[in-house]
Amino acid sequence: MFFFGKKNKGGDKATHPLVARAAFCTVCNAERMFTKCWKRAAMVRECTGCATPFPNAGELYRGPQPACPQCGEFLEHPGFDYGICDGCGSKFELPDNAKPTLLPNKEQRHRMGYFGPPRHK
Ligand SMILES: [Zn+2]
Ligand SMILES: [Zn+2]
Repeated sequence: MFFFGKKNKGGDKATHPLVARAAFCTVCNAERMFTKCWKRAAMVRECTGCATPFPNAGELYRGPQPACPQCGEFLEHPGFDYGICDGCGSKFELPDNAKPTLLPNKEQRHRMGYFGPPRHK
């Protein structure tokens, strides 16, 4: 007896692709299509910005806004939807009934005057 398809007991699939959707991009300041959308299923184990591995990802997720200790890349939360704006390529968190939240890339963080993750403790 085999189970095909959705069952994934290993948990190695960290993201699930979602269908494209339209959302308001605050960078374009307009409604845009988000062709590339996904739901994060597990904690980020490797930085999506600089590919640094996170052997203790749970530590990073204790703060309100987890970020890579190396490059400051904001980490995606398990259970949340994300997408890339077709217009400008920015990454957003796409909540179901709320405005998309920008997850700024390195260049955008720099422009915003954000130079690193907040230090807890
Ligand atoms: Zn990084
Ligand atoms: Zn955009």
